[in-house]
Amino acid sequence: MANFEVKTICVIGAGNMGHQISLSAALAGYTVTCTDINQEILQKAENFADTYLPERVAKGKLSEEDAKAARARLTFTGSMAEAAKNADLVIEAAIEKLDLKRKIFADLDKICPPHAILATNSSYIVSSKIADVTGRPEKVCNMHFFNPALVMKLVEVVKGPHVADETVEVVVDVCKKMGKIPVVLQKEIYGFLVNRIVAAIKTEALYIYDMGVATHEDIDTAVVYALGHPMGPFRLMDLTGIDLSYYVGMERYQETGDPKYKPSPVVVEKFVKKEWGRKTGKGFYEYCK
Ligand code: NAD
Repeated sequence: MANFEVKTICVIGAGNMGHQISLSAALAGYTVTCTDINQEILQKAENFADTYLPERVAKGKLSEEDAKAARARLTFTGSMAEAAKNADLVIEAAIEKLDLKRKIFADLDKICPPHAILATNSSYIVSSKIADVTGRPEKVCNMHFFNPALVMKLVEVVKGPHVADETVEVVVDVCKKMGKIPVVLQKEIYGFLVNRIVAAIKTEALYIYDMGVATHEDIDTAVVYALGHPMGPFRLMDLTGIDLSYYVGMERYQETGDPKYKPSPVVVEKFVKKEWGRKTGKGFYEYCK
């Protein structure tokens, strides 16, 4: 049994993932502080909470009292020191760059109470690449949510060689209290379970597209109607962010030197044009902002 119970959660990054992880945790009864270096994104996250909760009430999915209580438990600040100083658990959801994550974890180690668990929501980076910058590697793990985090149930919890059993127990317990379904990976593996499978499909879809064999719409249609996926790989990339696909590919390429990991030409093109998907209003498809 873990010798402490998580009551206070800090979420680093209020972007695609962070704003919804924060709200999920607040709805589950945790006191949550969400922080971002970008004031505009932080404000957007706060506005989202102020819109989402009343909408749930209006739809009869949430009582007014619970909505108010969740909102009262959720705060936003531009100061990481302020956000993390009382945290029992930190969920880092900043952009997918190893150097940045290492810097954030080194800072968190100084700011957070000694018992605090430091988890990363990284899609691909295993926590053993980060844990050594802290004085508490046994409390550093992966806690990987899926997009959109308010809706998607699965969370991958990864037990790297440095991670204590207690850390996994506490994180699994938090997942369950958030109404999520945790799966524990007993070993680290690049991309964990789901993204390895998704990556294989995405790589093939991009290859077919770049070869001019089919349009992105037709490839998505084929995957939806033949494989029964809720959305095709191009719509999924728009949802998760084409910038993320670019960073992940580049990081993997730089790490392995294997050109097969280089982002595909269309991903590079869209990254450079800032057509990053839903978050910029245009990716493979167009969206109202
Ligand atoms: P995003 O770009 O939408 O948001 C990242 C946020 O981090 C930005 O708002 C940025 O301003 C902020 N940030 C950068 N440096 C920071 C710092 N030092 N302190 C505080 N905030 C900082 O990215 P995202 O899609 O939300 O991804 C975040 C993480 O979650 C990544 O590691 C990604 O791999 C992972 N992830 C993403 C998805 C997805 O579908 N997008 C799914 C699961 C996991």
